[in-house]
Amino acid sequence: MKDNHQKQNIIVVGGGIAGIAAALSAAKTGVSVLLINNEGNVGGDACTGMPILGAYSTRGEKCVGGVLDELLAVCKGFSEACIGPVCDFRTVYGLCVNPEALRLAILLLLKKYGVKLLLNAVVTDTESVNGTVTGIKVICGNGETRFFNCRYVIDATGSGNIVSRTGGKVSYGDVDRNMQPVSLVFRMANVAFEPFLRFIKENPEEALLAENPVLERSRVKAAELLYRNGYPYVALSANGKLLGTALLNKTMYPCTAMFITPVSMTNGELCINSTRLAHLDASLPENASGALLSLAEQVQTAIKFLTSQVPGFEKAVLSGIAPRLGIRETGRILGEYELKQDDIVSDRKFPDGIGLGTHHVDIHGAGTEQTRIPVKDGGAYGIPFSCLIPRYLNNVLVAGRCIASDRGANGSARVMGTCLVTGQAAGTAATLADKLRIVDFRKIDIAMLKGVLLEQGAILA
Ligand SMILES: Cc1cc2nc3c(=O)[nH]c(=O)nc-3n(C[C@H](O)[C@H](O)[C@H](O)COP(=O)(O)OP(=O)(O)OC[C@H]3O[C@@H](n4cnc5c(N)ncnc54)[C@H](O)[C@@H]3O)c2cc1C
Repeated sequence: MKDNHQKQNIIVVGGGIAGIAAALSAAKTGVSVLLINNEGNVGGDACTGMPILGAYSTRGEKCVGGVLDELLAVCKGFSEACIGPVCDFRTVYGLCVNPEALRLAILLLLKKYGVKLLLNAVVTDTESVNGTVTGIKVICGNGETRFFNCRYVIDATGSGNIVSRTGGKVSYGDVDRNMQPVSLVFRMANVAFEPFLRFIKENPEEALLAENPVLERSRVKAAELLYRNGYPYVALSANGKLLGTALLNKTMYPCTAMFITPVSMTNGELCINSTRLAHLDASLPENASGALLSLAEQVQTAIKFLTSQVPGFEKAVLSGIAPRLGIRETGRILGEYELKQDDIVSDRKFPDGIGLGTHHVDIHGAGTEQTRIPVKDGGAYGIPFSCLIPRYLNNVLVAGRCIASDRGANGSARVMGTCLVTGQAAGTAATLADKLRIVDFRKIDIAMLKGVLLEQGAILA
């Protein structure tokens, strides 16, 4: 590449949770890592207050370790930052963490392990020879262009942007390119948890409860347990009288449920995930920008509904809005193996499995539509390393939402716990390849990779 090039061993593109896991697991071995993100910060959707899903199975077994454990250990150093795994007796356990503490923990670990960070910088092009990337071109926020030569690239862009720019293949949404709706998540503080949970206990039909036969089957019992546990990890259902009536009389916008997650017990603070706009290709900037404005109106509507209709929210105040539009679905790469919906629901394991996923197939549709198909017996499925290897490319791996998966499988693998798993595996594989001077990731010794992941605290089976 051009004269003003800089050299890096490993470049990670994308500062969401997958890119963070990749950068941290590579940098902690001492190799030089550059993490590039086109936003002014890192963390993405992981720092909005939504629960980390996929880290615990429906049965409550811990399935993700490694970088996640390191992040939580730092979070636990701040008072009350980690509420922990909570079950709403619906389908899953959610790991509830204060999003500001999580972002701080991420930044502290990036600093600790010496990850070089390049923010407000977009990778616009790659240079490659016969499927091997030799360098990337970056446009910085100030308009400057930089070139970086590198040995390995990890595409953690959430959309396979680097793969598609380098000659790999990426597909989007369903056959008609329909994608899951976009949302704007927000937080409210000063909520009185006890009256809210009492309301759910006395009206269990108001919440999505007892959907998975592995968990408590009776809605009444599930609501009772929720109340007793004291954590407002609840999904207020559109089939309930309260939200259902609001949908009918149009004082609320159509949604499946209001997914509520506690982020601070002291401040009575919750994250609320309910707004949605469907049938929109958010990879187009006009669409994403317009959606943000429409969703802001939905947030206003939701606040009005909650404070006027829902017990416990009478004195609640808005405490935060996600710093960006939440995009559930964009591109999935064509990889050496495509993870399939059937692999998820049948909890299939693979010889080249580099970690576990546990979240149900979860595909949000328009209005009140949502498909949820649980993993067999509330267990965990394996994630093959070959899903991280883009077809036709040699020294590129993907991590996070855009791994090779069919649409159903992606509805599960897109969650944060699983993004951490693929990020950690990609970062570790890149360090191994660097150490052994392997150019093509297909030649990585899987047993060796698994050994290093286990040493890093990853959970493989
Ligand atoms: C509304 C909503 C609700 C969700 N609910 C949950 C939940 O409750 N629990 C859960 O676990 N998961 C949930 N998810 C899913 C999960 O949050 C995301 O799938 C996950 O965080 C994606 O992480 P990622 O690192 O793969 O991608 P991202 O977080 O999208 O990170 C990719 C980053 O790469 C950057 N980038 C892209 N192209 C370039 C480029 N060319 N140059 C530089 N940077 C680039 C992007 O701007 C972005 O910052 C939800 C998602 C949404 C949108």
